[in-house]
Amino acid sequence: MKDSFDLIVLGAGSGGLAAAKRAASYGAKVAIIEGDRVGGTCVIRGCVPKKLLVYGSLYGHYLENASSYGVQFSGVKFDTGKLLSNVRKEVDRLNKLHIQFLSKSGVELFTGWGRFTGPNSISIRKSDDKQENLELSAKHILVAVGGQPIRPDIKGASLGWVSDDMFLQQTYPEKVIIIGGGFIACEFASILNGIGVEVTQLVRGPELLRGFDLELARSLKEGMKGNGIDLRFNTSLLGIEGKNGDMTVITNNNKYNTAGVLFAVGRKPYLKGLDIDKAGVRVMDNKIEVDQFNMTNIPGIYAIGDVTNRINLTPVAISEGRNFSDRLYANKDGFVSYQLVPKAVFSQPEIASVGLSEEEAFNKFPGQIKIYKSTFRPMSNSLSQKGGKCLMKLIVEIKSEKIIGCHMIGEHSAEIIQMASISLMMGAKKEDFDKTMALHPTLAEEFVTMK
Ligand code: NDP
Repeated sequence: MKDSFDLIVLGAGSGGLAAAKRAASYGAKVAIIEGDRVGGTCVIRGCVPKKLLVYGSLYGHYLENASSYGVQFSGVKFDTGKLLSNVRKEVDRLNKLHIQFLSKSGVELFTGWGRFTGPNSISIRKSDDKQENLELSAKHILVAVGGQPIRPDIKGASLGWVSDDMFLQQTYPEKVIIIGGGFIACEFASILNGIGVEVTQLVRGPELLRGFDLELARSLKEGMKGNGIDLRFNTSLLGIEGKNGDMTVITNNNKYNTAGVLFAVGRKPYLKGLDIDKAGVRVMDNKIEVDQFNMTNIPGIYAIGDVTNRINLTPVAISEGRNFSDRLYANKDGFVSYQLVPKAVFSQPEIASVGLSEEEAFNKFPGQIKIYKSTFRPMSNSLSQKGGKCLMKLIVEIKSEKIIGCHMIGEHSAEIIQMASISLMMGAKKEDFDKTMALHPTLAEEFVTMK
């Protein structure tokens, strides 16, 4: 028998939860289907537990500087098991909260894996039971199933971890090899390094963080090396031999013995088992194609977040979800702006950006950009004279005088760039920054005093 809804949301991650609750707030009858834990990647195995590990790892760096402030420690010990266990407890708390929020908002939660049986119908298979025992139908179906980490297609790939596994460990070994030079690789390299793990990071290209401002990425490289991370570039992974806890990583130019390997080589949409083709939905390059209304080629079927061909960031998925429900159930005509989406890598040092990188700006406005920048040792490191330098950079389009890129590496850069992104969104010019009174002594004041 089919239960009928106005909207079925597949996936209770950040985007799906936001869309479902917003739709229900307008009186829609909403079902949400989740096979794993409510909260999705961000809450359960991504942004939130990652940031908690980042906070934990920072204590290692504070301790390094402590003696310059006259603080002496003895017998300092990293209890990684306790950190991981506390992080999991917090994730459990948030998971329960999200389930309560759904219930309070009147959204009906179905636990199990959803599968298209037609353009308006979904059958649900319980996670622990192969049998499909429920079928739901709806006028509108929103696919918000997110993505999953990629495991490279190499010999011995099953010996390595992907980012999901990092949150499930009881503790980490003394030595870990990280494959990749992107967000997750740099963040986990910094986390592990901060809690005392010996990290070697193997990057197949010549630089970290392809797509970021090159000067910023190079500055991160120096900062991470300065923290003791062994970064190897132009190094391609060929295979892994050995057994769990005792492996040899084989690359084009070396062999590395290690107790743990983390693959951080990108993520892909989680389309497995969805039978999206049964509904006729077009998928390109393994991603669901959507238009400005987040609608697929099949009317009534929509997609948001990491499963689509758009930006893979939590706030983007949330904004897409809310705008989707606002348009469908409240006749609002809001759309997500994909311009000026700020991004941060919670590495050590931390980096954050909004707008065009210098390279992108140069290509878009050749000969028409002016760069302002400041490089300095942050005051917090002045007593110890240790730690990386801050780099702050503004990119201005000469004709309009508008700031088209704002970049920073250094402490609190994500917090600072979040605020700077408001002014870029409002079309701020360099003179607006110059007219703004500095708040002294801060790092952020550099952005309003650059000459
Ligand atoms: P990224 O796309 O950021 O980086 C993938 C890295 O892996 C690149 O350095 C890439 O190299 C490399 N790579 C790809 N394939 C291979 C291979 N076969 N062998 C060796 N190296 C390889 O992916 P992540 O997994 O780090 O993160 C996925 C996405 O999740 C991010 O793009 C981001 O959207 C999101 N995210 C956001 C975070 C945040 O906001 N702070 C944190 C974590 C994730 P190359 O550059 O040469 O292709």
